[in-house]
Amino acid sequence: MLELIGRLTQWLECHPHTVEVAGSNPAPPTNLFMLFHETPLPVFQFSCLSQFSFLKHAVFTRKGGYSQGAYSSLNLSFDVGDNPEAVKKNLELVKTYMGAKRIVWSRQIHDKNILIVQDDTLPPFKGYDAFITSCSYTALLVKLADCQGILLCDPERRVIAAIHCGWRGNVCNIIGATIEEMQDKFGSAPSDIWAGISPSLGPCCGEIKDYKTLLPVSLWPYKIKEHCFDWWVISHDQLVATGVPSNHIEIAHICTVCDKRFFSYRRDRKKTGRFGAVIMLTNKK
Ligand SMILES: [Zn+2]
Repeated sequence: MLELIGRLTQWLECHPHTVEVAGSNPAPPTNLFMLFHETPLPVFQFSCLSQFSFLKHAVFTRKGGYSQGAYSSLNLSFDVGDNPEAVKKNLELVKTYMGAKRIVWSRQIHDKNILIVQDDTLPPFKGYDAFITSCSYTALLVKLADCQGILLCDPERRVIAAIHCGWRGNVCNIIGATIEEMQDKFGSAPSDIWAGISPSLGPCCGEIKDYKTLLPVSLWPYKIKEHCFDWWVISHDQLVATGVPSNHIEIAHICTVCDKRFFSYRRDRKKTGRFGAVIMLTNKK
């Protein structure tokens, strides 16, 4: 109960829903709670994605892994200065938790390159910020510290995607590009797609000081206070713009800068790890 009250308080602090955002869709983002499981490896799961029996997904925290110090403990990135042996063991934990045949990830570069993963698509991958697959037991992993992990599922075509989206991802609209690829390559209808937006930079902490130089004018209406933007609503609206129904979208409403269960690039002043958001199809009916 205390956990629930804590979560409610945190959610209210992190999400000023009463703020009207000009340019936003009339309906506010769907506000479903994520489900939290305090197993030896704590995970969050989206309610909206948990309805599909053939789908497995998780948003991990920074807890439950092998890394030490600033990377303690479930750091999933080889690119942040951590001991590679610890990272390998952490990735193995994720793979085992998911029951995956393999786990696919890339060195992410905040652009909009999308990798279609087939059974014969081989690593190493570099320069991809989104993955799409219809292959079973192939887990798609994005690595996060304030950026959004956006997990997508089209249950009709049995296609999934994972997107790494920071503010640069919103600027280049990697969300729209990924859904376009799901349409073009797999015949997905956006109206069938369900989406979860992971814990990430909240409106409370979403500051872009030099926004007039860095952000297109189309994003300026999402500024909710001095230099602070609501990146959750921006992603919601970018999904809706492609045709994904608003009530298919679940936002975690957890700010990674405020919530110390997660790695945060901003809070930890760059020296930190990356937690994971991962999604996988199984063969279950
Ligand atoms: Zn915050």
